[in-house]
Amino acid sequence: MRRFAWGHARRFNSYPEYFQQLFGGRVQKLSIDAGFTCPNRDGSKGRGGCTFCNNNAFNPSYCQPEKSITQQLEEGIEFHSKRYRGINKFMAYFQAYTNTYNHLDRLKTLYSEALEYPGVVGLAIGTRPDCIWEELLDWLGELSEKYYVIVEYGIESCYNKTLMRINRGHTFEDSLKAIDMTAKKGIRQGIHLIIGLPGENESDILSGMKMISRLPVQNIKFHQLQIIRNTNLANEYEKKPDSVKLYSLKEYLDLMIRIIELLNPAFIVERIAGDAHPDYLIKPRWGLRYDEILKKFEDLLENRDTWQGKRFKGKDER
Ligand code: SF4
Repeated sequence: MRRFAWGHARRFNSYPEYFQQLFGGRVQKLSIDAGFTCPNRDGSKGRGGCTFCNNNAFNPSYCQPEKSITQQLEEGIEFHSKRYRGINKFMAYFQAYTNTYNHLDRLKTLYSEALEYPGVVGLAIGTRPDCIWEELLDWLGELSEKYYVIVEYGIESCYNKTLMRINRGHTFEDSLKAIDMTAKKGIRQGIHLIIGLPGENESDILSGMKMISRLPVQNIKFHQLQIIRNTNLANEYEKKPDSVKLYSLKEYLDLMIRIIELLNPAFIVERIAGDAHPDYLIKPRWGLRYDEILKKFEDLLENRDTWQGKRFKGKDER
């Protein structure tokens, strides 16, 4: 069987296989809503949030900030046990809003509660690149010596004109600074990108990927742009549908193949698409679950005999 640079037969460096190698078995991510808000909503950076954002569209039903971390982990394990039996290793995923947006003492309390739960082997902390600081990174660095710890930065785009347009409230330079600080502390980090943001064409997206592939990050997630109910983007789309390019599944997978070919083969790909809750999703409605989308993507890689990093020329490529 053909094996790729990452040591297994899948044509991209996939997350479950990586965990399989690291922990010797499946690790289930359990989302947590720890009651954070976000500086782009409470006025310290902006109001109204990023134009695409409605956290309810992604939060599993068991995640409610009124519940303790322990209760959310318990219910998350129960929720996932219906699909996956016998898993006894878990990753506490601080997912909703900006999960470093509080004082260090409060963050320590929340993260420590999660790590004390039986079977929790690590933390994934979703945040904005402008909500990280040295002292927190120092503490996360210490934690990384005992647990798997990953900071996930929503960088969304590498173009400031796009970040302005989606009211992100930070720049790409902020992202570079946070990534650099995190790398210097030796902490694992991931980035999240949205493919198809307003104003970006395919050439912008593919050139951006060369830049992204040079970053000192380990993990990456991709989401297609989705129009979600009760967002500013939904209002924009209703008024001017032509202002937003929405990809069909076929177009998106074709673009993702070209993205994956340019992507640094060392990056672990956590996701190639998003799956907002159907009650919240306006468009595009592809009518498939994530595993079905992934299967189509992998079939396409196979049929085209291509793989992650096939066109990656190295970190020095300009
Ligand atoms: S995407 Fe993140 S940063 Fe933007 S409004 Fe939503 S929670 Fe805040």
